[in-house]
Order: sequence, then structure tokens, then C-alpha cells
Amino acid sequence: MFKNLINGEWVEAPGVTRNINPSDTRDLIGEYAKADAAQTQDAIAAAQAAFPAWSLSTPQQRFDILDAVGSEILARRNELGDLLAREEGKTLPEAIGEVARAGNIFKFFAGEALRPGGEVLPSVRPGVGVEITREPVGVVGIITPWNFPIAIPAWKIAPALAYGNCVVFKPAELVPGSAWALADILSRSGLPKGVFNLVMGPGSQVGATLLDDARIAAITFTGSVGTGKRVAAACVARMAKFQLEMGGKNPMIVLDDADLGVAVNCAVQSGFFSTGQRCTASSRVIVTEGIHDRFVAAVVEKLRSLKVDDARKAGTDLGPVVDASQLAQNLKYVEIARGEGATLAYGGDALEHNADGQPGFYMRPALFTDTTAGMRINGEEVFGPVVSVLRAKNYDEALHLANDTPFGLAAGIATTSLKHATHFKRHSQAGMVMVNLPTAGVDYHVPFGGRKGSSYGPREQGRYAAEFYTTVKTAYTQA
Ligand code: NAD
Repeated sequence: MFKNLINGEWVEAPGVTRNINPSDTRDLIGEYAKADAAQTQDAIAAAQAAFPAWSLSTPQQRFDILDAVGSEILARRNELGDLLAREEGKTLPEAIGEVARAGNIFKFFAGEALRPGGEVLPSVRPGVGVEITREPVGVVGIITPWNFPIAIPAWKIAPALAYGNCVVFKPAELVPGSAWALADILSRSGLPKGVFNLVMGPGSQVGATLLDDARIAAITFTGSVGTGKRVAAACVARMAKFQLEMGGKNPMIVLDDADLGVAVNCAVQSGFFSTGQRCTASSRVIVTEGIHDRFVAAVVEKLRSLKVDDARKAGTDLGPVVDASQLAQNLKYVEIARGEGATLAYGGDALEHNADGQPGFYMRPALFTDTTAGMRINGEEVFGPVVSVLRAKNYDEALHLANDTPFGLAAGIATTSLKHATHFKRHSQAGMVMVNLPTAGVDYHVPFGGRKGSSYGPREQGRYAAEFYTTVKTAYTQA
């Protein structure tokens, strides 16, 4: 059994989680520890005990550790990418890319450890000086989803450690393999014991314990809106700091003046790749009249050419859906959209096997046309390879439809008009806006996050991460 890491020791847990390959459900990747509340409390106690010393560690010490972690991840990107593709189902190139991203994130925050910053200001009172500094917040509870099994943990763990916090990390139960591999690297990096702890196990036990424990100073969460609301309520009840990254129903606008090839690539890339299982996926494509029919025909042609197969097989474009319940949810939304009167222009059916007869959670990507704003398919996140097309008269109507959502994570536009691109960047109500680029696929050194119902609290990634992982102190000195 792959064990949990608590206070620098690998420990058995009361239960076991079986990690199954969604590309071939006969393939058991491994058995992973499943902690309970008591084991979670052990990890919290270890992190709390480690905090005073780690919070005063030198920038050089933190740099050396994070840089070494980043180097090992990058050196092992193919092997770790293979594990990631095997447990999550994204294609091997996508998985290797995600692992490289995780390595680069550790390298970035290694550098940030050397640049903590601060300000020295004159006081408004004579003879007084003012210093503004940042200090770590304490023990951070990290709760992550299954769809980016190594990049999301990396973009939370690396800044937490870089700014001097201790960590209790609770990964998603569906993808313990990548989390364990990352913890293994961290366990050999020179971190003092207890600074980083891995507690694999269910949200209802491990996650809930983190939310309610007064020794956890801050919770950073990425996952569904439903769980995010629980995190918020629990943190507010005990005045803990928290940060939420949640769902999306991201729009991609295609205007009459768009380059058709660019528009199709943006829509297919961000709507269907990674099997549509990205919070930044554009699941609503809003297309103006003059290009609508040509665009839909080109997307359908492109979808016909995509190969749905084992995530690790060369030439696979779309891997399987992550598990049976996500597949059932996708198929349910296909039925909902049909019931609402949308036209199924392509796909939408489950495939029980791949071409080699491997049983897996395969699904043909689904494209709906003739959809309208009030339909559930345009209001609710599916989190699968299911995209709907809305028709718009002109740019103004397209912009209105794009913003007509309770979410606000990412938004895109395909256009050759500088005027419309510029207007859209300013008037989109999303945290991340893309012009002639897919909505999914972002840099690792700049802020990531959304508005409205998609996100809550400070941004993640880049130097903006300091807002969450540090607290500001203002000190006055009478000379
Ligand atoms: P989820 O909310 O089911 O689970 C997320 C994490 O919360 C898991 O580790 C889970 O075990 C834990 N959890 C569950 N119940 C809990 C509880 N009561 N207390 C504490 N923790 C609990 O989400 P998921 O299905 O793993 O991920 C899919 C969702 O994540 C989608 O909605 C997607 O949009 C979102 N997501 C958002 C972003 C973003 O940055 N905005 C990125 C990736 C995924």
C-alpha cells in the first residue's frame, strides 16, 4: 500500500483506496492509504509543531529545496506523465505537459522565496519609520480536485512552502498516484519533518477535518461549487482564511471576421481536449450568423477525425472520462440537452471499449447546435466533452450571451477585429480572457483565477500568490 506522509514518516492508514485506470478498468494502478479524521489530526499536529522553525527558515534554504523538487519533477516528466495519464485519462502528451508545468511552478516559487519584498515608508509623524513586511500565515490545508493531479497540487504546495508555511495536503481520491509521487519527491528534498504532510482519504473525513480544525490557519480549495460553499461556510464560522477555485461555463465567441481555422482550433482545443475535464474548458461557443454554418460544419469534420482511445496510446486525441459517475453525468446532460430541443450535431454516446477491446469510460465528444441561453446545457457545468453552440446576431449580442452566466473563470474570442478584441478584453466578466487562443492553457508565472461564482479570494499563481500565503505586518519605529 502507498502510505500517507505524516511528520516525515510513511504511515499506514485505516482504509485503502483502489486506483483504477479509466482507459482499462481491469488495470489496478495501486492501493493507496485512506485516512480517517484521527490520522488527519496527527498530520495537523505535526505541521503545527514544525511551523515555528520553518517560518524562520532562510530564503536560501527554501530556494534550494523547491528548486531541487522542480528539477526532479522535470527530469522525471515522462515517467510521471505516464502515471498521470494512466490514473486520470488525459493523453500522454497532455499529461507530460502537466508534469512539466508542475516542475516549472516549483522552480518559479523557488525564485519567489528569494524575493519576498516589503516596503519602508516615512511615517506621517516626525521621527517615525514604517516597515511593511509579509509573514507566513501558519498551517495551510490544501484540498485539490482530480482533473489536474499534479499541477494544481504544485501551484498550491510550492507557494505555501516558499513563503514559510507548513502544509497538510489532501488530494482527490480518484488520483492518489500523482499526489503520492509528488509527496515522495518532497519527502526526499531536505524539508524538515512535519513541514509537508500528505493525507490521502475521503473529503467527508480528511477534508472535513481540515476545515474544522482551529490549528489550520488557511484553506486553499479547488473543486466543485457545492464543496466550495461548504469550505467557505466552515472557514467563516471559525474566521479562517480561505481561497476557492471552482467551476466554469466558459464562453468562446466566434465572430464573422474570424480566421475559420483559428476559431475551430480554439473551440475544439478548449472544448474537448483533456476530455473536456478542465475548469477553463469553453463549453459554450457563441457564433455570429455569417460564419455559423461554416464553423459548425468545420467543427463536426474535425470531431470526426479525433481518435478516442487509451490515454497512453500514441495518436490518441481524447482519452476516457475519469470514472463511471462522471460518464453518467455527461450522458445525463446529453439527454437533458436533447430534451430541451437542442440538435445533437455529433457524438454524445458512450463507447464501452476502445479499438483493442479494453473496457473503459470512453465517450464520443458531443456537439449541440440550436441551443439557447435559457437551456440547462448552457447554464450548468457538465465537466465532460460536451459543447453547445449558440447563435448570435452580432458582437453585442455575443458579448451579452458570454457574460450571461453565474460563472466567470475564462472567456475567449476568435476575431481579426482589433476593435472587438479590445472591447472584449475590457468588457468580458471573466478573470482570464483569451483572444484567438483556446480558453484552456495558461502560463505558470501569471495570476490564475476567476470572478463571480467561479472563484473567491485572492488569485493563485505568479507573484499574486503571496496575497493568500502571507499576511502583512505594518511596524512603526520611533527613531
Ligand atoms: P469536488 O468538489 O468533488 O472535490 C474537490 C476536493 O474536495 C476533493 O479532494 C474532495 O475529496 C474534497 N471534498 C469533498 N467533500 C469535501 C468536504 N465535505 N470537505 C472538504 N473537502 C471535501 O470536485 P472534483 O469533482 O474533484 O473536481 C471537479 C470540479 O473542480 C469541477 O467543478 C471543476 O470546474 C473544478 N475545478 C476548478 C478549477 C479552477 O481552478 N477553477 C480547476 C480544476 C477543477
